[in-house]
Amino acid sequence: MANENSHPWTAEQALERLKEGNARFVNGEAHFPTVQKEVLADLTKGQQPYATILGCSDSRVPPEVIFDAHLGELFVVRVAGNVLGSAIFGTLQYAGAHLRTPLFVVMGHEGCGAVEAAIASKFHGAEHKSRIELLVENILPALDGLDGTQPPGDLLHAAVESNVRWTLRTLRETPEVKAVGATSAMKLVGAIYELETGRVRFLEP
Ligand SMILES: [Zn+2]
Repeated sequence: MANENSHPWTAEQALERLKEGNARFVNGEAHFPTVQKEVLADLTKGQQPYATILGCSDSRVPPEVIFDAHLGELFVVRVAGNVLGSAIFGTLQYAGAHLRTPLFVVMGHEGCGAVEAAIASKFHGAEHKSRIELLVENILPALDGLDGTQPPGDLLHAAVESNVRWTLRTLRETPEVKAVGATSAMKLVGAIYELETGRVRFLEP
């Protein structure tokens, strides 16, 4: 039974909902977007999203579309390369402390330009404009241990997943996530969106 400090949904229910929405999207059976006045009126009362998604700004990966989710269902942060930063941490903390979304998803995607820029920096000595460089610096630690001599497509594929796992690790090491601990109903998972199929692959821990 949910109390006022918890979300009525479990993390498992939230994850199931995302998977079902993505399946509708892939199968061309999406419900969104259809917005009725009654829905908008209802949403003025507040929001109770069941999942928080940290995704990339890439125009091809809007979480609401990919998960066929309606207004009020997803709390979304989008930043190139789905990297962390102080404003992002603050937004995620708000989602945890106030919205109590049971599920947190870090979602990368195949063909990510930000990850590609980080690869170019690390393996080919490429230089980027100052603020892009700052963004890329957030991704570089994720590339440690990757074989830079493999074919570019394979390298990007591996780097996209490493970047998601790196972000997950960084989040898990924050005092806030540690404090919530393993006993919590909240769940943090990684995912990769496949551009070609439209499918979201949830990562095994
Ligand atoms: Zn991207």
